[in-house]
Amino acid sequence: MELIIENLSKTYGNGVHALNGVSLTIPQGMFGLLGPNGAGKSTLMRTIATLQDASSGSIRLGDLDVLKEHNAVRRQLGYLPQEFGVYPRISAEVMLDHIARLKGIADNSERKHAVEALLQKVNLWDARKRSLGTYSGGMKQRFGIAQALLGNPKLLIVDEPTAGLDPAERNRFYNLLSEIGESTIVILSTHIVEDVQTLCKRFAIICGGEVMYVGTPHEAIHMMDGKVWAKSIPKQEMDAYREQYRVIATNLSEGMLYIRVASDENPGNGFAPAKPTLEDVYFRAISEKMDLVFL
Ligand code: ADP
Repeated sequence: MELIIENLSKTYGNGVHALNGVSLTIPQGMFGLLGPNGAGKSTLMRTIATLQDASSGSIRLGDLDVLKEHNAVRRQLGYLPQEFGVYPRISAEVMLDHIARLKGIADNSERKHAVEALLQKVNLWDARKRSLGTYSGGMKQRFGIAQALLGNPKLLIVDEPTAGLDPAERNRFYNLLSEIGESTIVILSTHIVEDVQTLCKRFAIICGGEVMYVGTPHEAIHMMDGKVWAKSIPKQEMDAYREQYRVIATNLSEGMLYIRVASDENPGNGFAPAKPTLEDVYFRAISEKMDLVFL
């Protein structure tokens, strides 16, 4: 099964063009949607999740028209939104059972079995009787995945799931997601390049509501071969360099500034060739759309 998005646009009532002719084909496996804040990621996720309408375009999940057949799509869908609230005084086990009922798993033993299997899968079995309010950020996210997986969805959407997780929790979460990606379409929205690098077979860079790149991380990095150049400069010369070159990364160390620039030709002036990274690809792509004043 594939998710096929064609020419999708969304203009909000206030005139903001959040999506502008987005076309993407998303196969089974982990697909990363990488973009800065305000890029349109959540708008796209919510539209795929049937939670809001598009202005124009189409989305198909297998044979289903996502923009029209909301109920049928929802039966195939798991969604972990960015803001995932939990009832703090209820245990994970009771809450999952409750959500399973809402999702229509009426048979008691089937529900018990589904809840137990998911608690094991997301590694919360030992903590299943604890109230959700006592969970760490990573545990809450894993609980969020468990509720999203109830009913065996064909499509799982996770919106910025690793923000705020410490490295160990992030790792555990990565392992869980990649396991799920073996049998499901998983769309992972993130502004963290490492999430895509670690997890995703394919990814798209989205910025200003438009797709700037789509492909594999490996192809993306390869595309930048011979086009990234680096140099250390005195900090106070930064503005002059920014005017002359397309600066895609800066790093301050011992009073000197290490900068990376994108250029098809050797820029000369003491720049040395640098091995491209996925971050270079990302910052180059979004620098076409944004004024990268934060660099
Ligand atoms: P991201 O998830 O990548 O941060 P969003 O989809 O949340 O991006 O936002 C894309 C653009 O749409 C932003 O400019 C944002 O301010 C605007 N936007 C998002 N939701 C609404 C809304 N409900 N009404 C008006 N504008 C919105």
